[in-house]
Amino acid sequence: MSLYEVPITKLSGIGEKRAALFRKLGIETVGDMISYYPRSYENWSDTTDIGNVQPEEKCVVRGKVMTPVNTIRISGGRTMAKLSISDDTGYLNLVFFNNKYISSMLRYGETYLFMGKVAYDKYGYQMVSPEFCKVTEGDTITPVYHLTAGLNNHMMIRAAKEALSMLPQTIHDPLPDDIRKRYDLCNLSYALNNVHFPTDLNAMEKARHRLIFEELLVLNLGMRMMKSQSHEQTAVHLLEDHTAEFIQTLPYELTNAQKRAISDCVADMRDKPSPMNRLIQGDVGSGKTAVCAAVCYHTVKNGFQAAFMAPTEILAQQHFETFSAMFADTDVRVELLTGSMTAAEKRKTRERIECGESDIVIGTHALVSESTAFCRLGCAITDEQHRFGVAQRARLASKGEHPHVLVLSATPIPRTLGLIIYGDLDITVIDELPPGRTEVDTFFIRTDKRDRALGFLKKQVEEGRQCYIVCPLVEESEGVDELQNATDYAAELMLGPFRDISVGILHGKMKPKDKEKVMAQFAANEISILVSTTVVEVGVDVKNATVMMIENADRFGLSTLHQLRGRVGRGQYKSYCILVSDNKGENTEQRLGVMCRTNNGFEIADMDLKLRGPGDFFGNRQHGLPQLDIADFSDTETLAQSQEAAQTLLRFSPDLSDGSLRALRAKMRRLFAETENTMN
Ligand code: ADP
Ligand code: MG
Repeated sequence: MSLYEVPITKLSGIGEKRAALFRKLGIETVGDMISYYPRSYENWSDTTDIGNVQPEEKCVVRGKVMTPVNTIRISGGRTMAKLSISDDTGYLNLVFFNNKYISSMLRYGETYLFMGKVAYDKYGYQMVSPEFCKVTEGDTITPVYHLTAGLNNHMMIRAAKEALSMLPQTIHDPLPDDIRKRYDLCNLSYALNNVHFPTDLNAMEKARHRLIFEELLVLNLGMRMMKSQSHEQTAVHLLEDHTAEFIQTLPYELTNAQKRAISDCVADMRDKPSPMNRLIQGDVGSGKTAVCAAVCYHTVKNGFQAAFMAPTEILAQQHFETFSAMFADTDVRVELLTGSMTAAEKRKTRERIECGESDIVIGTHALVSESTAFCRLGCAITDEQHRFGVAQRARLASKGEHPHVLVLSATPIPRTLGLIIYGDLDITVIDELPPGRTEVDTFFIRTDKRDRALGFLKKQVEEGRQCYIVCPLVEESEGVDELQNATDYAAELMLGPFRDISVGILHGKMKPKDKEKVMAQFAANEISILVSTTVVEVGVDVKNATVMMIENADRFGLSTLHQLRGRVGRGQYKSYCILVSDNKGENTEQRLGVMCRTNNGFEIADMDLKLRGPGDFFGNRQHGLPQLDIADFSDTETLAQSQEAAQTLLRFSPDLSDGSLRALRAKMRRLFAETENTMN
């Protein structure tokens, strides 16, 4: 029986009550406990001489107890225990609060290791409430686990020890021998034991490296297998190039970057044996929509349908309007399909799609639902790709016989991440903005300057312009809901500084119909100031809007701020972004400072990665990748090795059906099964 089938309650000292706490950490079985890897380690072997301790630094000292423990009562019914230790280089005082067992645990004359932070005050150096252990016993490097209230690190250590002891003598290693040899990886048994309780630092690194490698390998295999399916397929070839005639009808000259993107796509769709599989990456406002429209036109003129999936209703609606206008003088029939349409509307639309009466279908997730079927889907496009999971992209493509696939992203992604998320997608970068755009001037202010900022917004409105205010983001735990918050905030403005101005509200809890109405009013300049939550984030295009003011700006990732800022500066008017925050943290100054300094999305993405780490890069796991236990994407060398290994294995056994790879295949299934679940 696999240890993943043995409930955690089999471990001593873990009953139902405590099991519930472990469950909070995602640990339900003994196997889960074994793969619950430490977040860091404490190294007891790295000792400092007492004579060399530095105030405010955490260190380990090895000292002999030189005085009996002296326990005294202090205020509030608490106790304080004091003692003194020494080594060859000096004396150190130790202080413990509210621990009545200290005198029985630390014996006069014996030597222990103590770990803690050293303080220096008028009584000299002292270590407050250090952790300690006997010199002879135990491990010199101890694991530190992520915890939850009610579970302390000692309990985790005990559980991990016992769980490891239940591993069979010989465990089957999912990594084939030759892969292990080639990349100098330790075996699984060694890795599991040493990732929790390393014999020394070297063993710890070896163990972690192997587990990270394995996890990245499994991830790579999964991503590649999904893709290889599309590679074996033969593409429908869209031979006739009709894009020139479409481009002529546009009211503006395309940028060179846009032209290049279009010809990349046309070449893919015309010449390649397998379907197009391309990512177009371009900063906000770089004109990706027009590129898509050209690709759709090309598809339709060659006798196929095109689907264009957007992440929100508002965006789908807006694309629909843009496309309808672009194709008004042609025979191309554009269709909208969103979840908010009535059942009858949806049914009729789906009938038209299925019998081939619609040519271009724009929509939300409704496009990938079971009941949507295409007559002859030739090209599937997803906008703002990172918001969709890998699986959703695949699902849209499955609506046709191996259609061409195009994905759009305004989020510049550092290359290492791109490799994993987009794998072998071909990439076109639109690195040029349409002419005439001026940089958005960005300011970071504290709340004491808010009134002045609001005065500035008022002036802009008096000049005929419009403004967005993204209102304070509330965290769920604060017990205020988003709606209440946005409404209160707008009401305050309407009664106060914006008495004579028309203010609208837009938030996530509104019905799609109502959202559309507000957006339409804003687009028609019937609303001057739009107070909203982040639902304006993607794609919305109102050229007359010149100010984006963002409250509690520190709570947003830089990439999100950049997206929000991209809502202004889209027309001929000078535009501004005002970031409001009272957060005094150093990190806030640094991050918001980056926003003020640059408008370049790639620079901002790199900075975001540096300041927040790869785990947070896409915010709330928007990348749709599985949750990883130990690896992150910052270890580029292991990432590259795992990519190479995945390639080798798939060449050897394309569906991993070879007996030696079965365990890896099972791991891959498990990793991706979890993703599917969390995504729906
Ligand atoms: P994004 O890449 O962020 O999706 P959009 O496609 O929404 O950008 O384009 C932003 C704005 O720029 C739109 O209003 C669009 O009409 C306009 N636009 C796109 N291409 C050009 C161009 N070559 N010249 C002038 N304006 C353009
Ligand atoms: Mg867009």
